[in-house]
Amino acid sequence: MESALINWLRQRVPTNSQLVLGIGDDAAILQLTDGGDCVVTSDTLTDTVDFELCQCDPRRVGRKSLAVNLSDLAAMAARPIAATVALVVPRTSSADLVRDLYEGMFPLAEQFQIAIAGGDTNSWDGPLVLSITALGEVTEHGIWKRSGAQPGDAILVTGCFGGSLLGRHFDFQPRVGEALQLNAGYSVHAAIDVSDGLSLDLARLCEASQCGSLLELDCVPISPDAHRLAERRGDKSALEHALSDGEDFELILAVPLDDARRLLREQPLDVPLTRIGQFIEQPGLWHAAGGGRRERLEPSGYQHRLDT
Ligand SMILES: [Mg+2]
Repeated sequence: MESALINWLRQRVPTNSQLVLGIGDDAAILQLTDGGDCVVTSDTLTDTVDFELCQCDPRRVGRKSLAVNLSDLAAMAARPIAATVALVVPRTSSADLVRDLYEGMFPLAEQFQIAIAGGDTNSWDGPLVLSITALGEVTEHGIWKRSGAQPGDAILVTGCFGGSLLGRHFDFQPRVGEALQLNAGYSVHAAIDVSDGLSLDLARLCEASQCGSLLELDCVPISPDAHRLAERRGDKSALEHALSDGEDFELILAVPLDDARRLLREQPLDVPLTRIGQFIEQPGLWHAAGGGRRERLEPSGYQHRLDT
């Protein structure tokens, strides 16, 4: 959603004493009566916007719709517990479509030991729409928010970026285990998952943390797919794809320097961790242009557009 609309909604929703963290992060936190906290997130995928049903296996669509929610829980370092699934299928489709969508979700549900706790299926004359709500719990190590980055923190990222359109946007691994592992052993001040583009989601984290970022563009891990796409299309460099493509579903982390050094040395995850710059006081995105100069970098990525 556009940031102006998010800001309107954030101010307009009724206040609620059990809502610890509301609209504007990767997930919300609700305080339950017994004192525990529940993390809630919701994501909607629509045929022809987020995938082309006529060109792909519906099981991959089902998997993706659950995986994007798990990625938001990972961005909070929450442990996934359950999900509910709302489907609106085209009236002309068969029950096999619904079965296949669910079959795509089940292996992921088993992998992360989450319950598919319920949902609803409707039909209509429009395209397939899947909306999943995922629930997680806060571990003893607490939660990550977007708002905790501090000037001087290193910007670390998991994995590599760009070109997910070539297939990775379906088959990515939500970084749930990685987030829990990092949260248990290291200090992380803030995090976000990259759904809409590395530079755009980094800008969102900076805005929430009221700071800026100084990127070292040479250090951005570029996926082989980004190189392939750049070669095939010729309109953007591989680096530009890495900065703006979206749907990488990797994590951006704000990590204090000592822990960042330790993490980079130990590389404790199955996926590589890379330092791509540092958070700075000056708002906005910047990159080191040599000779100590900073050049502004415009965040770019995918945004759903609405008439205002
Ligand atoms: Mg997110």
